[in-house]
Amino acid sequence: MKKVEDYIRTIVDFPHEGIMFRDVTTLFADPRGFRMAIDQMLHPYAGVEIDKVVGLEARGFILGGAIAHQLSVGFVPIRKKGKLPGTTISQDYKLEYGEAIVEIHDDAIEAGEKVLVVDDLLATGGTAEAGIKLLERLGGEIVSTAFIIDLPDLGGRARLEAMGMEVHALCA
Ligand code: 5GP
Repeated sequence: MKKVEDYIRTIVDFPHEGIMFRDVTTLFADPRGFRMAIDQMLHPYAGVEIDKVVGLEARGFILGGAIAHQLSVGFVPIRKKGKLPGTTISQDYKLEYGEAIVEIHDDAIEAGEKVLVVDDLLATGGTAEAGIKLLERLGGEIVSTAFIIDLPDLGGRARLEAMGMEVHALCA
């Protein structure tokens, strides 16, 4: 039987030369692959209390929406600056070149809510860390973080674990 990683392709030199981009659109497009990925991402959370699933833009929305539906809980997006229509709080973080800003609606999470953070890939952990900081500022209690791919050489897992986060990923 095919494994989740068998549905993921690598595109060389995207978005620029020297980058090996892990493309999960082939996983999402396959009915068995997508279902397998969602089922496996959910597996650690059987019996775990979760109030909200938070997805990081953009592939975290696809995964987070499916996971929230399966858990019968609400979904909250963390978006790049300027995309959310209501009142937001912002967090900046470093990219390889320059900086980026992510935002969340300031009423999206109630203090004490138990939150699961979802994205497709963990690299340096900068994006996830910025998202976690936003959630912590709103008083959210982060139960866990879930990814399809963890690239451990880039340090993201160690960075999140150093913040006290649980990290689950399906493949490296
Ligand atoms: P980090 O902030 O951990 O360095 O990078 C992770 C973020 O960048 C995630 O939101 C992820 O979607 C995106 N990302 C970085 N590299 C890749 C890649 O090779 N494939 C995919 N699908 N996403 C990537």
